[in-house]
Amino acid sequence: MLSDLETQLLAHIDDDMLIRWAQELTRIPSVWRPQQGQGEEAAARWVEARCRELGLETHFEIVVPGRPNVIASYGRSAGRTLLFEGHTDVVTEGDPALWRDPPFGGVIRDGRLYGRGANDMKAGLVCALAALRALVRSGVRLDGRVMLAALCDEEGQMLGVKHFVDQGHADQVDAAIICEPEENHLCIAQKGVMWVRVVVRGVMAHGAMPLTGISPVYPLARFLTSIHALEEREIARHSWHEYLGQPSITPTIVLAPSRGAGEPQNNVTPGAAEAVLDFRLIPGQDPEALARQTRRLLEAAAAVDPRLSVELEVLEVRQPTHTDRAQPVVAALASASADLSGAPPIYGGVPGSTDGTILSARKGIPIVTCGPGDIHVPHHLDEWVSLDEIRQAARLYALAAVRYLGLAQPPRAGQDA
Ligand SMILES: [Zn+2]
Repeated sequence: MLSDLETQLLAHIDDDMLIRWAQELTRIPSVWRPQQGQGEEAAARWVEARCRELGLETHFEIVVPGRPNVIASYGRSAGRTLLFEGHTDVVTEGDPALWRDPPFGGVIRDGRLYGRGANDMKAGLVCALAALRALVRSGVRLDGRVMLAALCDEEGQMLGVKHFVDQGHADQVDAAIICEPEENHLCIAQKGVMWVRVVVRGVMAHGAMPLTGISPVYPLARFLTSIHALEEREIARHSWHEYLGQPSITPTIVLAPSRGAGEPQNNVTPGAAEAVLDFRLIPGQDPEALARQTRRLLEAAAAVDPRLSVELEVLEVRQPTHTDRAQPVVAALASASADLSGAPPIYGGVPGSTDGTILSARKGIPIVTCGPGDIHVPHHLDEWVSLDEIRQAARLYALAAVRYLGLAQPPRAGQDA
């Protein structure tokens, strides 16, 4: 049941403005293409302008040249702080000729907004902005603070959220809603990731005289077979996570010769071969232990000849996350979702990692990933987002914020402009 105050709050969600905002932001290409002078800056400036119009305390921080973060907040710092988090970068549109509409045209058709980034995740960002606008315009006195972070480089190295943490912004955050496209489901678990690069070095030789050298390819092949068996053991041991399914280990890059070891040639035994493994982790798996096992398997595969040597480098580790349903942020979203839709909330999990992974790993912040947009559409041609889901998400965010933070005192009348 919505209270009168909550009904008044939701009346301040302006659907026309919301959809127009989603369209405007989608039309700003924010693929990171520094050689073409393109990046997140224009999209970040657009978000900053909306925040300043609302009178929010707003920070524009350069993470690396051309790649800014925008951080805005509303409310009082005495109580809890709820963060709405999103990213301004989008992945490449690929070949524009393969799109039905111009990738950055922001075309609206049949209840959908089309465009690269419409789904992942400009729609989620504008919903958070619209929720903030409703909170400001309704004059509701929150017993705490809402923060909005529109960060750069989520699709790359997550430099934006790492900078956000390093600058101390996360220190006051008590809970975060990650506004990624999840069909407005409440995703309370995220897979972790570990990327491992291995190199096997042998001795280069003429392809016609293989005994004069030693091939790194067979040891690498044996290693990959043993990794497949390790994956099966991990699946058997950790079984099926309620929201995340099973863990996986996928060789995503296999190269011989390895990078930097010369041109491939039909009649040359390469001097080195490499592979990159993409581990996707569920709660209960230990990345450090897996890295140690991987090293042992690599050494065993190369133990057949003293001329072979190996290298292993852990490129990135992001732990899996799980947020308990009893956490106040989950409870606030769940009750808001139920009251808005008239149906129980749908819980889920995120197979990839997001900026939320960093907030959880580095700061222990409880996170829920929840935003508008079909979960299968990100990074596809003809990317789209449902306008109905956008309208739902803006209301869900506003209501969840008020329920999570609570009220400082009764609202003042006549605040709307
Ligand atoms: Zn995203």
